[in-house]
This record gives sequence, C-alpha cells and structure tokens, in this order.
Amino acid sequence: MRSQSFRCAGCSLPVEVKYMKTFRFCAYFGKYFCTSCHAGSRAVLPARVVHKWDFGEQPVSDFGASVIASLADEPLFCMDDLNPAVVKRVSRLRQALQWRRDAAVIFPFIVTCKEEGEGIKRWVQQNRQIFRPLEYQIRSFSAS
Ligand SMILES: [Zn+2]
Repeated sequence: MRSQSFRCAGCSLPVEVKYMKTFRFCAYFGKYFCTSCHAGSRAVLPARVVHKWDFGEQPVSDFGASVIASLADEPLFCMDDLNPAVVKRVSRLRQALQWRRDAAVIFPFIVTCKEEGEGIKRWVQQNRQIFRPLEYQIRSFSAS
C-alpha cells in the first residue's frame, strides 16, 4: 500500500492507514484495489500456469479479471519457448504438443482434399487452433 501511496491502483481512491485492510490484493497486477474496483473475484493467472503449472485461482481486481478473460482464447503461449522444463515434466502437455505437431502435418492435406465434404473443413475451421502446434491459449491448458 505504501508503494501505491495508500491509493487504489484502479481509481486512485485514497485510504487512511487504519482502513487499508479493507483494500483487496490483485495477484494479476500485484497491487491493492478498493472494493469498488475489486469485487472479490478469483481467476487462474496465466503467468502462474506458464511458470509453475499452477491452476489455483488467485484474487484479482475487476479489471484484472477482464484482462485475463479477454486473453483466455488467444494463442499467446508457446510453452516450448516459455518454459521447456514444464513441458518436460508434464506428460499430458508433452502429449498434447505431440498431437498438435501431428495435426499440423496433416492440416494441408485436410484443407486441400477434394474428396472430403464440407463437414470436415468446417470442423477444421472451428478447431483451427489444434493445427497450430506451438501456441496455446490458457483455456486449452485448463481443458487438458
Ligand atoms: Zn478503486
């Protein structure tokens, strides 16, 4: 709180030292927020998943929760680059990476196949992410 000058990190609402326990910690930003800016939500933090393979929910401010939610479906995390030790340690992740590499190999054949109907091509379009072997979304981690 001292590093924030006893103000909410969201709206800058000042707080007296004797009331600072009413402020809530946001693990996403690493700062304290007033109860108007932090309703008490909890969320899985992308950084904890990438660095510790930890899916425990942490307290997050309203803005932090909205940022995390907006990132959930974005393929931003290349685990081979970000944390190869986790890939080595987590067999399900290693298997998923191998399946995606396999899927990436067959992808050009599926999309150019003249024999197959529109059903498979529509499915491929809807599930295009699995044909990208390296980039993962946070949502795909929690589904595995
Ligand atoms: Zn606030």
